[in-house]
This record gives sequence, structure tokens and C-alpha cells, in this order.
Amino acid sequence: MSRVDVIVLGAGIVGVSSALHLAKAGASVVLVDRKAPGEETSYGNAGIIEDSITRPTAFPRDVATVLKAAFKQLPAANYHFGALLRLAPWMYEYWRQSRDDRNEASGRALRPLMERAASAHRELIAAAGVEALWREGGYAALYRDAASFAETQRMRELSDMAGIPYEVLDTEGMLAHEPHLAPVFRKAIRWSGTTTVASPGDVTKAYARLAQSLGVDVRLGDAMTLARGADGFTVQSENGAVTAGQVVVALGPWSVDLTRKFGLDLPLAVKRGYHRHFKVKGNGGLSRPVLDVDRYYMLAPMNQGHRLTTGAEFTDRDAPPTPVQLDWVLPSARELVPDLGEPVEATPWMGRRPAFADSLPVIGPAPGVPGMLLAFGHTHWGFTLGPITGQIIAALATGAAPPGVPAAYSAKRFG
Ligand SMILES: Cc1cc2nc3c(=O)[nH]c(=O)nc-3n(C[C@H](O)[C@H](O)[C@H](O)COP(=O)(O)OP(=O)(O)OC[C@H]3O[C@@H](n4cnc5c(N)ncnc54)[C@H](O)[C@@H]3O)c2cc1C
Repeated sequence: MSRVDVIVLGAGIVGVSSALHLAKAGASVVLVDRKAPGEETSYGNAGIIEDSITRPTAFPRDVATVLKAAFKQLPAANYHFGALLRLAPWMYEYWRQSRDDRNEASGRALRPLMERAASAHRELIAAAGVEALWREGGYAALYRDAASFAETQRMRELSDMAGIPYEVLDTEGMLAHEPHLAPVFRKAIRWSGTTTVASPGDVTKAYARLAQSLGVDVRLGDAMTLARGADGFTVQSENGAVTAGQVVVALGPWSVDLTRKFGLDLPLAVKRGYHRHFKVKGNGGLSRPVLDVDRYYMLAPMNQGHRLTTGAEFTDRDAPPTPVQLDWVLPSARELVPDLGEPVEATPWMGRRPAFADSLPVIGPAPGVPGMLLAFGHTHWGFTLGPITGQIIAALATGAAPPGVPAAYSAKRFG
């Protein structure tokens, strides 16, 4: 049996970044995952370092939109009828937290992390030697309806107050940036300061290699074997058992399976999402991700092809995949990018955004479990917030002054 300072469970972007920053702070670390790093949710996202967020993705509050979603006429959301009763308490809380004032409060709580997200990534991207995956030039939100653009007014006000750079463009102005788009939209907001990456999975793997070069021991193992004894926490891995005084739970959507074993039942749900890559005919592709706001999908140029990603699917985490949202939005994507060609993969990828109803992650000590730190629930912004979360976790674990951990991230908020 070996002994280290900290066991990190989960090698997604959050766990990898935590292990890396712990090693930089001088701690000995074992990083345990049942798969190689960056092969779950952190593989398949849209690769946007979304530091422009001021209002988290909300549950619709007007009856017409709710009815559209209920009758599956809203590609932004799908649900499994059989899971609705189980999800009802979380959905009710999500609806409650989506009221404008609460939604903006969550946005304000996210800002201190969002503001440092890109620089935290930039530091690691450079050290990991994968600057080639880094893309300046922002991403664009496209509005087909004048009315939906008008609804962005409050968001633009909040962005102005927060000093977030963007430019409002008409069709022609946007086509100057992306000449292969069809002119089917009226307005665009180009989030000009936002960075994107060409393969979030490869970024996560590169950070894991960097962590290994700093001494992190990356092992295959089942986090659910974690047990607490007189010596601290012990987890079993393919290379034997390892014990540490502290453990970081960064298992994304699976985190609560483990915390429940330790008596901590946190109200985490999943917003499942799908992607599929498409080839592009000739050189008719995009140079930055675009969000087709009124048709509810994102199209992001990636190393693997143009990645079409969907909105949220509400159901049980482990229910069989039902990628119908991709079918709903594909005609709109083909209309917007006429040179979109054949799919790259035979079947779509499915991921699970780990989500609390207030759209904030849990970062910090596990109430009632001394030595356990929690780092999960980053919902739509986990790729963005992974490295800054890693900095905070390392500071908490090593006793350094944490770089501003808002109380809003405490697990105590759930009572
Ligand atoms: C379609 C889609 C688009 C998205 N777009 C963006 C975006 O543009 N920008 C952004 O910032 N975020 C985006 N996200 C969200 C982002 O991908 C997630 O928030 C983030 O990847 C979560 O990272 P994580 O490290 O917490 O979890 P994960 O990456 O899921 O890592 C958890 C790890 O735990 C491991 N694990 C689970 N159970 C066990 C066990 N028992 N034993 C050992 N290991 C275990 C898993 O194998 C996995 O490696 C998107 C998500 C989706 C689905």
C-alpha cells in the first residue's frame, strides 16, 4: 500500500486540473479514474471557454415556452416521460432558481471564477505545449428573429457592467467574419474576447500529461472503493491500494454516488447532451463556434470535424441514449452552413452535464466528512471552470489562502 498527500478521484477537466495544481503546490498526488483522462463529459463539449456568462441557462418562465417544451416542440430541451416524477423536485427548484433575480444572483456568483477562467487555461495550455489547440477570435450567437435579439438587452447591459467585450453585428458584418454562413439570421453578437479550443478532450489529456510530468501518479481504479479508516482515505487501483489524508471528489455527474456513501446526499441532476461531427465540403466551414440561438444548437469547428452539439435532455443519468435533438436541429444546421457534409461517426456521442438547480458548482469541504473536498456540478461551464477550480482546490488542500472562494459554492447551501 502506498501513501500520498491527496487522492483525486475523477480525471475529467476538473480532477486533472486539481491534481495538476496540487502537484505544483508541492503535494504528492494520485489521480484515479476508471478510464484514461478526459474521456467522459470533458471530451465531448463545445470547447468554449465561456467567460462571457452573466445569466446562467434558465428554465423558461413563460407558459407558452413551457408548453412548447412539454409537447417536445422546443429543440432546446427533451425529457423522458418515465423519469419526470423522479426529476420533479429538482425541476421545480430549477424553475424557482430561474426567476430573473435569482438567475442574475447565480450569474454574479459565477463572475469571480469566469473572470479568471481564460487566464487559468492559458497558463496550462502554454505549459502543456498545446497552444495549437487554442483559438482566439471568440464565438458568435446568431439571431434569426429580431424579437429574440431584442431579448438580449438585459444580458448586454450586464455584460457592459462587467466589462465583457462583444460586438453586435448585422448579417453582412457577421458574414465578413464567417463567409460560409448562409444569410438566414438578422443579427449576431460576437463574443470577441472569448477563447475556444479545437479539441477539449485533447486539452484535458495534455493537462494530464503535464500533471504526470510534475509527479502525479495517474491510475486506473474504481472511486467507489474509497473507504475511510484511522490512516485516512484508501482507494483501490490497478496498481494497488493508496492512502491519503485528503481526497478530492471530482467525478462530475457520478460524484454524488460516492458522497452518498459518506452520508452526504446532494441534489445533483444531469442535463444530458449529444454531439456528432460532420465533414465539410471543400473549405466551406466555420472558423469559430456559432450558436444558432433560435434553433437551439451549437456548431463548433473541431479537429475531428464540425461538432454539432445539442441543448439539454432531462432524464436519469444512465438511461439509454435518445439523440433525437440532433435530428431536430440538423436541418437548421444544414440551412445555416450549406457545406455541412456527411457525419463522421456512425452514432452520436452522449455526455452528462452535472447540474445543481442554481447553476453553481460545489467547490470546497464536504460537510461532515473531514479531509474530503468537493469539486463538481459545473453544469454548462465545466470545461471553462476546470483550471480555476483546480487552483482553488489546491489552495484549500495545502492550506494556502484560496483565491476567492465565494460562499455560494459551499455544499452547506443545501442544508
Ligand atoms: C454537449 C455539451 C456541450 C458542452 N459545452 C461546453 C462548453 O462549450 N464549455 C464548457 O465550459 N463546458 C461545456 N460543457 C460542460 C462540460 O463539458 C462539463 O461541465 C465538464 O466536462 C465536467 O467536467 P468534470 O471533470 O466535472 O466531469 P467529467 O469530464 O465527466 O469527469 C468525471 C470523471 O469521473 C470518472 N468516473 C466516474 N465514476 C467513476 C468511478 N466510479 N471510478 C473512477 N472514475 C470514475 C469518469 O470516468 C470521468 O473521467 C458541455 C457539456 C455537454 C454535454
